[in-house]
Amino acid sequence: MRRTVLAALIALMSFGGNALADNFPSHPITIVVPFSAGGPSDAMTRILAERMKTTLGEAVLVENVTGAGGSVGVGRAVRSPPDGYTISFGHLGTHVANGAIYKLGYDLVTDLEPVVLLPSNPMIIVSKKAVPAKSLQELLAWLKARPTPATAGTAGAGSGSHIAGLYFENVSGIKLQYVPYRGTAPAMNDLVAGQIDLIVDQTSNSIGQVRAGNIRAYAVTSDKRLESVPDVPTTDEAGLSGFHMTLWSGLWAPKGTPKTIVAKLNTAAVDALNDPAVRKQLENLGLQMPSKDQLAPEALGAWQKAEMEKWWPMIKAANVKVE
Ligand code: ASP
Repeated sequence: MRRTVLAALIALMSFGGNALADNFPSHPITIVVPFSAGGPSDAMTRILAERMKTTLGEAVLVENVTGAGGSVGVGRAVRSPPDGYTISFGHLGTHVANGAIYKLGYDLVTDLEPVVLLPSNPMIIVSKKAVPAKSLQELLAWLKARPTPATAGTAGAGSGSHIAGLYFENVSGIKLQYVPYRGTAPAMNDLVAGQIDLIVDQTSNSIGQVRAGNIRAYAVTSDKRLESVPDVPTTDEAGLSGFHMTLWSGLWAPKGTPKTIVAKLNTAAVDALNDPAVRKQLENLGLQMPSKDQLAPEALGAWQKAEMEKWWPMIKAANVKVE
């Protein structure tokens, strides 16, 4: 008897789950961006969200939940019902590095369901205009000659700009004094205003200010120059070889989200990435598209794990203290 009731319950639950998946989405979806509005994560998400609604037939909203290197926003998404209506946007920082820095209240692999890999972004070394250096070599000399470390804006411990700064310190032997913000949008405001010295930034965040001549750019961390800022040399060309970094992004759903819902979200994001108008907007920000074979949810899961193996040793060795 008990068994029959249990079986009936299970059948009912899975029917409920299927019905939920079949009707998905029946109301707006929210993507939680764990950094401030106007920054690179926010910009990419808003461009994609706008196009995703065409495939999904429902609005895709963006909510900025900031703090602690993005771990507050990811936590919010992890704790949401696994119904596809709350999605976590993140990147190499939030979904890889943070696991080596913070005591997170969630597990980045077992509490999340990968949805799709999103475009990636080389980093760019930029400074306030008042820094007298005109090349990366001059910048390195200026940094070395200072009596106190230069200030480097970041989006918090574990963010892309922070790990890029740690990497830069590693290859150059220079010490930086980090200034954490809730995203690199406010960090950029302070750089333009001359309040901080530099940012090892996502290209998409700096590109507008570089083009406008409001900040100085020294090198991009890709192996080829970027079409979007062709005058900026690569780190190899500028004499800091070995400093290669690509900050990729992705979408995740809370663990337990039905596979069919994950597939619908994946299709909507892939449609957006394949839309020529969307691609143009993203490429204009210096973003690089993932290849076709990287677009399945499983590919993001495998990539995230491989990146943990690559980055965690360096991040743990840097012994980052989180206040
Ligand atoms: N992606 C962050 C932001 O949007 C910046 C970072 O990770 O450095 O602000």
